[in-house]
Amino acid sequence: MSTYYYFFCNNCQRRGGFLTRQAWGWGNFNIIDTFKFISYHSEKCGHKNIRIISEHDSEYEFDNIGIEEIEYYREAEGIFPHSDDWEYMEKNELTTIELDKKWTEQKIEEHINDNRRKLRGEIVHMEIQNKKRGSHYLAVFRMSNNEKIRIIGGDSFGIPVVNKQYEIIVEGTKISVDDSDDIFLVESIRQL
Ligand SMILES: [Zn+2]
Repeated sequence: MSTYYYFFCNNCQRRGGFLTRQAWGWGNFNIIDTFKFISYHSEKCGHKNIRIISEHDSEYEFDNIGIEEIEYYREAEGIFPHSDDWEYMEKNELTTIELDKKWTEQKIEEHINDNRRKLRGEIVHMEIQNKKRGSHYLAVFRMSNNEKIRIIGGDSFGIPVVNKQYEIIVEGTKISVDDSDDIFLVESIRQL
């Protein structure tokens, strides 16, 4: 016995995606349909508008969406989960069990070789450099143990502000700028 679910966007009042839950755990999942629905409506309507509705909810509808669905497929045509995993599955002609094992081993290895570091601290000095294509910043980051490092980052996560607390992820290896000091590349940053 399984329970059927779909996703729902409160903003557009549209539904889409599909998954089931079995008594012993998660069941079938239409990965492409669901990915498209969530990506499309997160971007257009905001992720807070997206809900998951089970067949036991009173608002669950059974009928075919028909024309609405065709319209949505056309609108969301450009959204597709591009992933190396598809290629990986195609290249490795293995049984499902062998493939699961190989994939898991490979993912674990990637994490072992991951030399990124997550740090918490404060921006104490900041220099913004505006370039034709976006800007980047050079900053001094003071960690809770008072150790200071120099960091460099782009503006894709926004430019941080001096005297505010941040959590940053930096590449573990230092890069050298202008042959002077060692500096860490910021991979992501969020204000605390
Ligand atoms: Zn929507």
